[in-house]
Amino acid sequence: MATEKIQSAHQERIAFVYVRQSTPLQVIENRESTERQYRLRERAIELGWPPSRVEVIDEDQGRSGSTAAHRTGFQRLATDVSLGKVGIVLMLEASRLARNNSDWYRLMEICGVSGTLIADESGVYNPREPNDRLLLGVKGTLSEAELFTLRTRLYEGRWNKARKGLLRFPLPVGYVHGADGAWALDPDTQVRERLACVFEGYRRHGVVRAVVRELKEQGLELPARVIASEGYGSLVWKAPTLSAVIRILHHPAYAGAYVYGRSEYSADRRSPKTGKASAHVRSLEQWPVKITAHHPAYIRWEEYVKNQERLRENWSHDESRGAPREGRALLQGIVYCGVCGRKMSVQDRAARENRSPSYICLKGYHDGDEKICQSMTSRPVDAAVVEAFLGAVSPLSLGVATRVLDQVEQDLIARRRQRELQLEQARYEARWAERQYNGVDPENRLVAGELERRWNEKLERVVELERAYAQAERDAEWSLTKEERTAVAEMSQDLPAIWRAETTTVRERKQLIRMAIESVQLDGVREAGQIEIQIHWRSGTVTEHIVKRPAPGESSLKTPEEAVEQIHAMARRSSYEEIATHLNRAGLRSAFGRRFTTQHVGYICRRDGVAKRKPRHASKSEESVNSSTSKEN
Ligand SMILES: [Zn+2]
Repeated sequence: MATEKIQSAHQERIAFVYVRQSTPLQVIENRESTERQYRLRERAIELGWPPSRVEVIDEDQGRSGSTAAHRTGFQRLATDVSLGKVGIVLMLEASRLARNNSDWYRLMEICGVSGTLIADESGVYNPREPNDRLLLGVKGTLSEAELFTLRTRLYEGRWNKARKGLLRFPLPVGYVHGADGAWALDPDTQVRERLACVFEGYRRHGVVRAVVRELKEQGLELPARVIASEGYGSLVWKAPTLSAVIRILHHPAYAGAYVYGRSEYSADRRSPKTGKASAHVRSLEQWPVKITAHHPAYIRWEEYVKNQERLRENWSHDESRGAPREGRALLQGIVYCGVCGRKMSVQDRAARENRSPSYICLKGYHDGDEKICQSMTSRPVDAAVVEAFLGAVSPLSLGVATRVLDQVEQDLIARRRQRELQLEQARYEARWAERQYNGVDPENRLVAGELERRWNEKLERVVELERAYAQAERDAEWSLTKEERTAVAEMSQDLPAIWRAETTTVRERKQLIRMAIESVQLDGVREAGQIEIQIHWRSGTVTEHIVKRPAPGESSLKTPEEAVEQIHAMARRSSYEEIATHLNRAGLRSAFGRRFTTQHVGYICRRDGVAKRKPRHASKSEESVNSSTSKEN
């Protein structure tokens, strides 16, 4: 017996028996183990503690041991130990106390500081003695390994259950768990009928927005299940929105299928802002668990599959986000409505229609509003933004900017690390203050008041640091990635030339724009006949520009006056090809900003009646090209 470690000073303090199980199921099944844990009380008495000073903490029953934050029993233990009230902590195995290694080591430390002993069935340990510390450390490490196996087993267990269609998760609205655990249609007739109404509407219209509008017109709301902890699972009715209807149409459960693993979470793709693993939606063929005809359905599986195709077709070309795509509107994906603040979409015209695309605010419309919010042709807007962009990113300022950026980024990394450490420390101190406060006798008002004040102070500090941290993260967002940096260095030579180069694709131009511009806000409503443009630069500044809205009829483009004059002057002595070469060399561009071709030149000569001889390359193909450029007058 290691009784020589126990001294009267220990026995004058309390003996804590810490009882815990991991899950409610274990609490029921492992009666034996529970009894073993309670027997520790007797052991404490054997070791010399009077029964009145033996306390059993079993508040944690049914709570998992992976972190101490949610476990009041553990917190109470830690507090009392740190206040020096405890002479010995008894537990069944080290792993019962704290499966999370950091909690375990912290407790060992506290016990060491306050001179508290730790005991399990096999012995008594004094955390102040190096040998005992080592032994306790090994026990902690082992229990962490145990937790890992446990987690893996749980994870596999989940999948095993899911493969059989037995894993339970919150059911989508319209279904309830029957008495046998199987899925049943919601007994509420109104819920069932409303869902049927959504599917029926989509069958008729084939357009989600039309379904939403119809529901709104008829004053029909959509059922939903509350997922907040308050009122969890209860039924509420909500105004129909586009996203709610899409969610219903996308959910395979309504087609009678049990599906698990629709989203894939990969640890190496994390949100840069929240650090959470980002979800990637798997396509229907890749769902790891798919059991059709698993429960009563609202629609047939074939119809569900068809709906998915239809949804994809309707949406793929519309919702613009993420990486720049081909398409001629430069601001696609970064343009916002100055009237309602929503993201604007791009309406691309067919390629053969020689009209520029429009920026259009559709979100409200999709959600059933009467009209679209606003729309405008992209050309004058793009032109103004490009002008501002080329002006702002002159070669000189770019060269300086990259050097400055280097410095800024170095500082940012260092400061971020500092802030993280500060925050971690503050959080720890707050938790610590809370435990001390919780541990004090409420009768002892003076001490309790002081501890509460300290706890509040620590909490305020945490909030303040969190706010500063979030702000700093936002501020840091405009820093460039490595690829962007390289691109900046390359283009700092002569950006305008790169911009206009024929080899530069629209996609690349969009990337260039995005390097400097965070977003653009458009308001074509406040003042008739003009568009107010707000450019939000990634440097944090905002500039405003105003362009005229093109009047109807004025919308078609004109070949620059200078080029037309040159064509007229040269038409009688030179071939179309020679004229085109000459114009291009002089840096002149067609109405669409493109290099002149023999076709362009030929068209203008014939239009203005200055052509003298038939061009050598005139052919059928030229005729067809001419007809398509005929709007360029
Ligand atoms: Zn709007």
